[in-house]
Amino acid sequence: MKQKRFLSVMLLLACFCLTIVAKAPKYVFYFIGDGMSLNHIMGAQCFLGQKGAAQGVAPLCFTGFPYTGLATAYSANSDVTDSAAGGTALACGEKTLNGTIGLAVNQVAKLNSIAALAKEQGKRVGIATSVTLNHATPAAFYAHQASRNDYYEIGLQLAQSGYNFFGGGDFEENVNAADKDAPQLYDVAKEADYRIIRGYDKFQKGHRGNKIILIQEKDAVEKTLPYAIDATEDDLSLAEITTAAIEVLDNKKGFFLMVEGGKIDYAAHANDAATVFHEVLDFDKAIQIAYEFYLQHPKETLIVVTADHETGGLTLGNGRYALNFPALYAQKVSHVGFSRLVNRMRHETKDKVTWDQMREALKENFGFWDTVSLSASEEQALYDEYQRSIANNKDVRMAKSLYYMDEPIAALAVKILDNIAMVSWPVGSHTAAYVPVFAVGNGAERFTGQMDNTDIPKRIAEVAEYNKENKK
Ligand SMILES: [Zn+2]
Repeated sequence: MKQKRFLSVMLLLACFCLTIVAKAPKYVFYFIGDGMSLNHIMGAQCFLGQKGAAQGVAPLCFTGFPYTGLATAYSANSDVTDSAAGGTALACGEKTLNGTIGLAVNQVAKLNSIAALAKEQGKRVGIATSVTLNHATPAAFYAHQASRNDYYEIGLQLAQSGYNFFGGGDFEENVNAADKDAPQLYDVAKEADYRIIRGYDKFQKGHRGNKIILIQEKDAVEKTLPYAIDATEDDLSLAEITTAAIEVLDNKKGFFLMVEGGKIDYAAHANDAATVFHEVLDFDKAIQIAYEFYLQHPKETLIVVTADHETGGLTLGNGRYALNFPALYAQKVSHVGFSRLVNRMRHETKDKVTWDQMREALKENFGFWDTVSLSASEEQALYDEYQRSIANNKDVRMAKSLYYMDEPIAALAVKILDNIAMVSWPVGSHTAAYVPVFAVGNGAERFTGQMDNTDIPKRIAEVAEYNKENKK
């Protein structure tokens, strides 16, 4: 009996102590790898681990986080979500229809995102991405729009958000196609007191103010950041954007920062394995910046890493009980980078690219006939594609975007190399696979076991006390 009473007293004391000690994290980092499921992560770890070794797995920063879970990612109207409904679930904690940003299933009721809740609590807020600022995932944190494709309207809502930091490639569309007299989004943002800074150098030289939009230089070839595999030192990177965001957001009251690795999804849609793995490693570099911040403020920081859905049905293995990832090291450019190179060769030769020139380009950028040997049928397939799309018919190129003409031979070269590396892709679209959750820091223990994607922002809001009465 005495022992029982002693235990109860101890328990009460422990509870009392916990209530005094337990404080909500002031700094919350929320990383979303678009399209990044278990195999994209495992593939990146094999890619890293097999450098200089036949087998092996090297850990990433976030795969070492102490708490892990799995989340279901279906949307309100489909087993397979798109990025708009997935982003809305991860931002607002509610399922909605595919294609919808920040609105309930009825397409009318506005959903409050955890970024907006954090702002109400007096936290500074930042939204960062490697794609465009008004693309689906970032948009879900500040906009309410029935169609994710209404980029101009989403851009207007970005300026109205009052958040302190936006970082990414650029605006997807800067002008209103339906109304030529409507102001450009750059001007709308400036009108709302945002300072637009182009490039990390300029940011470092001075970034007065606490409403900053950091995007690429004017002459950037795409509106998104380039793929990591194609990027040069001069290009703005997701890690630099994350560093800049922390600099702008850091203050005594704390902050909320969402960072999207948006091009993992792009590369997975294109079934380009080496480019996917480079993107995951690049995303991990941005997470390392947050992790270093966590090490300086371990009790006050929470980092959650997850994804909105899986893309490509990525499979590590193709029936031969092995992987041959060293083959992927031969790949020097993405499918986009190689398309651009072929575009340039066409231009320089006035559409008279020879097979020898093509062969040389394939050798340099995919290691074919060099470190990666080809079967007779693989070589024949490349030659046939060269004959079809380059030597004889210059009109088969597809305008995948405004910035490059997609060359079918680039997709074929990537497909052949992935097959040699023993990576396979059943689809070029999203799937219903589980998405992983990794967490470290104050409150991280809440992110274990199976959960739904809508649970993640709810738990972040609970842990960070975003639902408490307005503390502004
Ligand atoms: Zn997505």
